[in-house]
Amino acid sequence: MTIADLPSDQKGEKPGTGQGLPSIFASRESEVRSYCRGWPATFTTAKGAWITDTTGRKFLDFFAGAGSLNYGHNHPVLKEALMDYIGKDGITHGLDMATVAKQEFLETFEEVILNPRNLDYKVQFPGPTGTNSVEAALKLARKATGREAIINFTNAFHGMTLGALSVTGNSMKRAGAGIPLVHATPMPYDNYFGGVTEDFQWFERVLDDSGSGMNRPAAVIVETVQGEGGVNVARPEWIRELALLCSRRDILLIVDDVQMGCGRTGPFFSFELAGITPDIVTISKSISGYGLPMALTLFKSELDIWGPGEHNGTFRGNNPAFVTSKVALETFWSDNGLELDTPRKGQKIADAFEALANEVGGVKHRGRGLVQGLVFDNPELAPAACEIAFNNGLLAETSGPSDEVVKLLPPLTITDEEIDHGLEILVDAAKQ
Ligand code: PMP
Repeated sequence: MTIADLPSDQKGEKPGTGQGLPSIFASRESEVRSYCRGWPATFTTAKGAWITDTTGRKFLDFFAGAGSLNYGHNHPVLKEALMDYIGKDGITHGLDMATVAKQEFLETFEEVILNPRNLDYKVQFPGPTGTNSVEAALKLARKATGREAIINFTNAFHGMTLGALSVTGNSMKRAGAGIPLVHATPMPYDNYFGGVTEDFQWFERVLDDSGSGMNRPAAVIVETVQGEGGVNVARPEWIRELALLCSRRDILLIVDDVQMGCGRTGPFFSFELAGITPDIVTISKSISGYGLPMALTLFKSELDIWGPGEHNGTFRGNNPAFVTSKVALETFWSDNGLELDTPRKGQKIADAFEALANEVGGVKHRGRGLVQGLVFDNPELAPAACEIAFNNGLLAETSGPSDEVVKLLPPLTITDEEIDHGLEILVDAAKQ
């Protein structure tokens, strides 16, 4: 059902105004509310790729918790495991206690994810969110190398706490800090200047040049696809070059897989496509599989130089998240994600976007797997397209430095029919 089919008293107000919401949101919640604040609906239940508001309107969810719901809302297998666990009075909050839920998660992660990929990472539970994972990664890199500087990339997004924000390449988000941040040096991301970034020779020359003032950095932090930055896709060979540079220069490579990990681009870790093994990896969002807060920082064993308690936090032992994560890994990754069929589904969206670009102009397409972006030449048109799509029953958000990209992050479990339905709405909205 789309909004057009609804009786007028259920249609709500115009998206983007926030009108039509219960007044408590305006009177009590801070103005800082951002993502999804323009959707004038109060949501209540959700299943698979669908989310329902209090008036009974159903929306196809191509936002999926900003990539936290790779297996959709309330997946029945995960839900059953969670209900069963709670029903048996399983521990919910465990800090760093050894619990059965944590043990089983670790065993499954080793068996299903690490061992088949020959990865020998130590696993740290840095806190509940992606930002916590990034903070731990930055701290560890600096502690392990005894060096201070971090290299980040244009348009990068790594989180909103002081360290993570320091390596976020978005002036608007950085301005939110109000005062200058911890020092980090941005490098141009692949294709940032419109052409191919040939190699990193210039960077090595700067490192060797005593006049450059650049200290050897502790680490480089990179996303293989920049989600918040506007679905900027790095070529695997560029990522490989970067990894080689880091190893040549004894600089740690951190891959931030908070959004692109857990299969978003196809393989479980997005860096698998480039055939590299980063020194440190950050994982969060879809790792619980159920939208529960959970994060991991993975690092090579020799980097495990933390002393007990050196990176603490109350909400690290989210046992229900361990339970759903274990079942999600078994269910979706025992066959290495084959059944999810992510590359083919992504291609379906890519083909539709390419066809749209050829037909109407003014838009182009970028993407990999099931992160797909429709880039508008006129940045004002991307939020407008999202607004029309919302009115017709599709949730999609914008990204990019000027919000010029409609970014699709549907659940990986989405069906072909649902993709077709969503594309129909979005393509129609973009044409308008
Ligand atoms: N890194 C990346 C690549 C992200 O996309 C995000 C969230 N959008 C974060 C870090 C921060 O994660 P969180 O919002 O869970 O703290």
